[in-house]
Amino acid sequence: MDFAEAQKEALECCRCGTLCHSRTRAVFGEGPLNAELFVVGEAPGFNEDREGKPFRGASGMLLDRLLLSIGLEREKVYLTTLVKCKPPEGRAPKPAEINACRPYLLAQLAAVDPKVIVALGDLASKSLTGRKESVSRIRGRVIPLDGRYVFPTLSLVRALYTPAERALLVSDFSRLPKLIAAERPSTYGTLNVSRIPAAEREPIQPGLW
Ligand code: SF4
Repeated sequence: MDFAEAQKEALECCRCGTLCHSRTRAVFGEGPLNAELFVVGEAPGFNEDREGKPFRGASGMLLDRLLLSIGLEREKVYLTTLVKCKPPEGRAPKPAEINACRPYLLAQLAAVDPKVIVALGDLASKSLTGRKESVSRIRGRVIPLDGRYVFPTLSLVRALYTPAERALLVSDFSRLPKLIAAERPSTYGTLNVSRIPAAEREPIQPGLW
């Protein structure tokens, strides 16, 4: 599926069989197709569902501040979520829903081909790194995969309510400019979105810090 097909299909999609019933509209994602930075959250929430755009409301304002703190406006970044539709009652998306929605994320990654993917929160971290450690264990590590750097960090929602987590998030974002400026990693690992490996592997650090 190419990007245009994915964008069109997601708006009418009911692949997962559940989240199409709890959404007002699908929130595909937005941003330039030549973005070097690609940010993936968990799922649309109330504000995103209402506006049809990713990262709105208080979480969106925090993300905007984090991006501005490293000299980036949101218009320069590709923004999306693991699943494109709001789960009911604010629950997290289920693995089957993330898997069903995976082709859209893969189409977005293929089209944008970013150098750096920021995975926000535990589910995005596990899905995008393929590792089973919690994000609190691997946040801030740089994981080269498929010619890109995956950078897991904490969720915006938790950071909104926990000053200590917000400070960690600010610290993690402050490392992104150096990563964006770095050469792409020459690894041959495959980005297995949403697939958990059978065995834990030690992360490979590219030696940037
Ligand atoms: S969450 Fe993804 S798979 Fe489920 S209905 Fe929405 S677009 Fe389709």
